[in-house]
Amino acid sequence: MSSGEPQPNDQSRRLLEDFSEVFQCRATHLALAPGRVNLIGEHTDYNDGFVLPMAIDRHLMMAAAPNQTNTFNFVSKAQKETTSAAINDFEPRPQEGWMAYPRGVLAGYAEKGLPLTGFDALIDSRIPLGAGLSSSAAIEVATALMAEAVGGFHLDPLERAQLCQAAEHRFAGVPCGIMDQFAVSCCLPKAALLLDCQTNAFESISLQSNDIAFLIIDSNVKHALAESGYAERRSQCRDAVERLGISSLRELDSLEGLEEKLRSEDTLRRRVRHVISENHRTQAAADAFQSQDWREAGRLMYESHESMRNDYEISCPELDFLVTSLKELPSRFGVFGARMTGGGFGGSIIALVRADAVQATMEWIEKAYRQAFPQSADAFIARPSGSARVEPVP
Ligand code: ADP
Ligand code: MG
Repeated sequence: MSSGEPQPNDQSRRLLEDFSEVFQCRATHLALAPGRVNLIGEHTDYNDGFVLPMAIDRHLMMAAAPNQTNTFNFVSKAQKETTSAAINDFEPRPQEGWMAYPRGVLAGYAEKGLPLTGFDALIDSRIPLGAGLSSSAAIEVATALMAEAVGGFHLDPLERAQLCQAAEHRFAGVPCGIMDQFAVSCCLPKAALLLDCQTNAFESISLQSNDIAFLIIDSNVKHALAESGYAERRSQCRDAVERLGISSLRELDSLEGLEEKLRSEDTLRRRVRHVISENHRTQAAADAFQSQDWREAGRLMYESHESMRNDYEISCPELDFLVTSLKELPSRFGVFGARMTGGGFGGSIIALVRADAVQATMEWIEKAYRQAFPQSADAFIARPSGSARVEPVP
């Protein structure tokens, strides 16, 4: 639950103390990268479509100091036990685990010919791993900011996001779109960003209201299917693009006239229908959030979930349970809408809830989930936050 969530100040103070203990010197730099939640627009980024993410007030923090060598030492407290590794080359390695992310990012800078300086780094993250809240983009962007701060050079936030996305493709083997790295690099406080993934143009959508809250519920389901299922959806979209003789699904406004070409391919037809309808919903939802029409925003979130469940087939019983249970609640629980968020096959849902009802709703849904499934769900309230940054070390 959200009440015990430590503020960044507590987290950074403890991290700096731990750094001194682990590396026997004081940290000189501190990088913070938020997690992100996507309000709507799922699996549209790699189809040149629209997404609407916001950064959240849960951070991965990295403290570091230059070490006068060409080696990069990373220690992470994220998993149950602390893990560490040294990097002194920038070649991708199979089955590397979490070090693929920092290695991939450093490789990107090395390939650009930028002057990397070795450093020791300690990581502490409050973003749950593999919950669809983009802990992977957070570790990438924090590494990138640290490489820049220690090396004394600077990329603009979009270019940094693209470098991090390339690291995830080439080193972690995940063919992700730009949304996660973009959100972590570029989001603004108290706003979501409507990003057009075709042009990388973005628009800030204000979320200033005190009337609503965003409730994130991590189902604690991590399906083995997540990676293969994601890659399969990507390749199905590529197939559809080829069959239709277009350059991306973004070109399509409706399925009208295309039914014939996809007639024998019911699966592809449904995948395409999700992408087209999700692009429409995402733009409509951005308008609804901007005009504080919470009912309409919530309705579009429910519709998005239906589309992901039936057409894109990336949901699972636990996520469906969470969304359906919230949808069926009486109005005093104040739920406007809910949907799974992130790559799918497990992870989290996001619900838009009236602020004065969110605490009771959170308690109710955690209990209902515990009664239905062997594992518990972790619910917390997320506030729209600013992008990743380097902060001075006191
Ligand atoms: P998500 O980005 O939704 O959290 P991913 O599967 O894309 O899920 O990324 C999770 C992976 O990122 C982890 O398995 C781990 O390899 C890496 N990772 C994220 N945060 C940390 C961390 N604090 N320390 C070490 N590795 C991390
Ligand atoms: Mg990720």
